[in-house]
Amino acid sequence: MEVGLPDEIQRYKLLCTYTSSIREHKVASDVDLQELAALTQNFSRVELKELVRVAEDKAMNKVIKVSSEGELDLSAMGKLMVSRADFLHALENEVKPAFGRVTVVDHLLARGIINWGRPVAEIIAASSTEIRRRRASESIDPVTILLEGPPNSGKTALAAQIAKNSDFPFVKVFTPDDMIGYSVTAKCISMRNLFDDASRSQLSCILVDNIERLIDYEPIGPNYSYETFQALRVFLKYRLPRGIKLLVICTTSNRQLFWDLELLPAFDTILHVPNLSKPDHLLAVLEDQDVFTKSELLSLHAKLQGKKVSIGIKKLLKVIDLARKVDPSNRMTEFLSELKEQGGLE
Ligand code: ATP
Ligand code: MG
Repeated sequence: MEVGLPDEIQRYKLLCTYTSSIREHKVASDVDLQELAALTQNFSRVELKELVRVAEDKAMNKVIKVSSEGELDLSAMGKLMVSRADFLHALENEVKPAFGRVTVVDHLLARGIINWGRPVAEIIAASSTEIRRRRASESIDPVTILLEGPPNSGKTALAAQIAKNSDFPFVKVFTPDDMIGYSVTAKCISMRNLFDDASRSQLSCILVDNIERLIDYEPIGPNYSYETFQALRVFLKYRLPRGIKLLVICTTSNRQLFWDLELLPAFDTILHVPNLSKPDHLLAVLEDQDVFTKSELLSLHAKLQGKKVSIGIKKLLKVIDLARKVDPSNRMTEFLSELKEQGGLE
């Protein structure tokens, strides 16, 4: 039988139990078990026990002396006192929960999130509302968000930012990049394991990236893996044990496919991630990237008036990286010509 992770009240009770044999004389007055219960989100029973053991060991190492003959001075045992610092040291350095905070989203945010215009702020604000809703709701259904938009528009990074903003202790990414060479069955099992893991933490967030690639969608045919698609559909409605809250964030560049597969209604919220579409958007990114001087940006501002801009942030950052390699005297000309070539400027 699967046993869920203890919540804060249960963790407090468990810590009381595991420290009961030493609490009276050997736990310092600065140790606050309520505080430790709050700090040990996602710890299992075994991990809490281990935490107490490691803190005790740490305290023991401070008092136990070995005599010149190599014998332990057992009288020092009487001075053993486990302090708050011992517990914090164990928490910080030694005992980590297996279902603990996973910062796997950070690599998806290597270039950060540049606030290039209103759409970015609106997506972040709308997702915050959903996260609050997830925290407050007692529903046993996951809250599901779909980020859809053209290729390179920044969907994955925004999804990662939303997952990070959730501050949920369990955050994991399910991406087709990790599934290369997997059979359909292996993919479905991985998905099942992930959702099972998520349902052991009180607050979990799963990012399912690039769904069309996950289900092996091929526009020619068209073709896709019906089994993976069905598994995904089931997991979007995954019934959770009571008290467990799950947020699922998915991304796609193919909204039409979702429409055709009748998958759109499976999402509570659909957020459109657009390309940059105004000269001001472009200028905001350039300013952030520190690639041109102030006066170059001013003259660019004048040059861009009335021009049509349409480019995804991911592609734009690549064009900027290319421009960086060019001598400053030619940089602006090269940048604009590459931008036009990539279809970002008319
Ligand atoms: P693909 O269509 O290939 O899946 P994508 O739309 O998922 O691409 P990302 O992979 O998220 O795009 O790439 C966006 C890149 O731009 C990331 O490196 C991210 O850090 C950076 N970035 C900077 N500002 C933003 C922003 N406002 N929104 C999204 N990404 C941003
Ligand atoms: Mg992506």
